[in-house]
Parts: sequence; structure tokens; C-alpha cells
Amino acid sequence: WRRCRMTSIRLGGTIGIIGGGQLGKMLAQSALRMGYRVAILDPSEDAPARSTCHTFIHAAFSDFDALKQLCEQSDVVTYEFENIDAHILRTLVNDYHVPQGAETVLTLQNRDLEKTAIRNSGADVVPYEKLAGKAQLEQFIESHQLPVIVKTSTGGYDGKGQVLIETEAELDTLDIPFDEAEWVVEKYLQLEREVSLTVARSTSGQVVYFPLQENLHKDQILYRTIAPARVDYMEEAKTAVDKIMAAMHFVGVFTVECFIDQEGKLYVNEIAPRPHNSAHHTIESCSISQFDAHILAILDHPMPEVHQHQPAVMMNLLGDDLDRLEEKLFTEPDWRVHVYGKTGRKPARKMGHVTVLTDDLDTTLDQLEQKFIKGV
Ligand code: ADP
Ligand code: MG
Repeated sequence: WRRCRMTSIRLGGTIGIIGGGQLGKMLAQSALRMGYRVAILDPSEDAPARSTCHTFIHAAFSDFDALKQLCEQSDVVTYEFENIDAHILRTLVNDYHVPQGAETVLTLQNRDLEKTAIRNSGADVVPYEKLAGKAQLEQFIESHQLPVIVKTSTGGYDGKGQVLIETEAELDTLDIPFDEAEWVVEKYLQLEREVSLTVARSTSGQVVYFPLQENLHKDQILYRTIAPARVDYMEEAKTAVDKIMAAMHFVGVFTVECFIDQEGKLYVNEIAPRPHNSAHHTIESCSISQFDAHILAILDHPMPEVHQHQPAVMMNLLGDDLDRLEEKLFTEPDWRVHVYGKTGRKPARKMGHVTVLTDDLDTTLDQLEQKFIKGV
């Protein structure tokens, strides 16, 4: 990169983060605690991370000049937003110190390329196909049977851009705009469980693994995480992740989401090349958090071993939950409450999360469920 540095980045150096949502905010909080300065770029005037940085650049992710300005001010640049335009990202990687590089994130931006890369690494993925039109969808259903799920190849998150097809009748009335976007179809599994493994890899190749996380989704949005998972799949997930790491270049923290089907077989679903919602519990439950690990990894500092102090449950606070719980959030002695500071509250928007450390998982799960559902 142009601003070539022979020495490592010193305390007081500036970390530039593309994206100022909750992930950018929590990354910034780790960086600030460790003694770095933080610069953030985000298109939203009231981005959560605006309050946790020294410099805030209010600009679109497509604003090339603004991104360059962020890079000019930073000793190292990272992102919490993974859908940066390919041309822009390649240029930034070329000209500045962006240790994560461009190629992995560009592959993972596209579900078809992502699944192909995972399959080519030797890890198992659910049967899928890139879709050209309805005839191909019908053919896929003939070979794999219903139910299937159709997803946009790009831009989807929290279940957005996904259509579940369970019956022939649904298939008949379905109108997918094949001309307007790229789509993939995959077999919809009856899941026994979902797990995720969060890993950090430093620039020079040190790797640390967080405990395996067990995730429950509601309406395709993460509802609750339990760590460590109550199923014994750590070694299997690690094996899959190691295959993926051997095939693709990772720097920083990333999370591999996995499905376990009724037969007990593990499939890789997708990979997030950034901090992940299912690893938020690490802030309280582990020796270093996923955010600490990310900062250390991109700075190429040695990372400590990850050990978990106590089992943890993390639940997301959606807009709906905040409506019910707002007055009772800070009265629970064991709740570690995080509210991101987003101004617009919507029913299904991620507004915050709660982590509880516990040695009595069943009781804690009960108490949380009661609170979240009834608000009592
Ligand atoms: P996103 O990018 O929105 O996170 P995912 O592909 O991870 O998209 O889907 C979100 C959730 O929807 C998954 O965590 C899972 O609960 C459910 N889901 C998605 N695809 C499948 C599938 N093929 N079989 C079963 N459940 C699925
Ligand atoms: Mg997902």
C-alpha cells in the first residue's frame, strides 16, 4: 500500500472503520479501551458509532472520495459493512492498509460465489443452485423435493430477500422477479439445531477460536444464542472452518454459521467476514471479546488464548422487545444490557442485546423467556 509502514501501528494510532452501526460501535469501544483513535464512515447521520469515535465522516458507502478521506486519516482500515462496491474496495486495498483485503469479502458478498467457494474448500453445504428462471426452480424441486428456499444472491440480511416455498400451490402463485436480481435456491432443511463458530486470524496467521455458539432464530432473525452450545459439534465445526481457512484468505474476526439436520449432519450455511451477532456474549463471557480479537488481529498483535469464564445466554432486543421492556431493562441484577442508540425504532430492528452469565442455564432461559415474552 501507498502509505507504507515499516513499524507496527503504535498506541494512539488511528483505526478507520467503514460502517458505524452496532458492530462498528462495539469495535470502536474495544479500540478506544485499548488506546487507539477511531475514525468512522457511515451514511446515517445518527449512526450508533458516531458517539464512540474521534472523527465521523457522514457519507455514503459508495462515496469514493469520502472513503479515501477515511483511509488517509487512518493507520489501518477495516469494515463492519460487507457490501462495499468491488471496484472501490480493490482500489482502497491497493492504496491503503486494509489487512483483510478485498477478495474474500467480495466472494462472500454473493451467495452463489460464497457457497461455491465453501463447497470447493471441501466443507459441506446444503444442495443449492444459482437460478436463471422459474423452469430451473421447478427442476431443482423435482430433484430435491419441497420445501426449498429462494434467496437473493446479494444484499440480503436477517432473512431479507428470502422466499420459503413449502407447497405446490405456493410454487404456482409465486412471482419471483428473476430479471431484477440474481437468485439462488437451496434445499430447506428441518433443522435440529443451528450453531456458529467465531474465529479470529491475525495478519501473520495466529488463529483463535471462540466457543461454539448455539443459535435460535425467529422469523429468520437471531433470537437467542447459548454459548457454549449444548451439542458436541466443536470439532466438526472446527474441521469445516479449517478447510475454509485453507482455501480462503481471512484476517480479522469472522463467523461461520452452520446447520445441523435431523440426521445430525453439519452443513456450512454462510460466513460473515466481520463481528457477528451470535458472538456478542464474548464481551462479558470470554477472556477477549470478538471485537477485541478483531482489533488485535488487524493490528497483528499477538492474541491471548480465548477461554470462557462462564456459560452465557444472549438475547437480542428488537424494537418490539424495547417497547415492552424499556422501563425494566436495568433492574435485573444479572443482565448485561447493551442498547445501541439507534434513533428509529422498528418492531423487528435490532436495537440492543442482553447477555446473562449463568451456571444454571435452564433457570436463566426460563427467566429470560418470561421477561421477553410477558415483560413482567
Ligand atoms: P441471512 O443472510 O439473512 O442471515 P441466512 O441464509 O443465514 O440469511 O438465513 C437466515 C436464517 O433462516 C437461518 O439462520 C436459518 O434459521 C433460516 N434458513 C435459511 N436457509 C435455510 C435452509 N436452507 N434450511 C433451513 N433453514 C434455513
Ligand atoms: Mg445468516
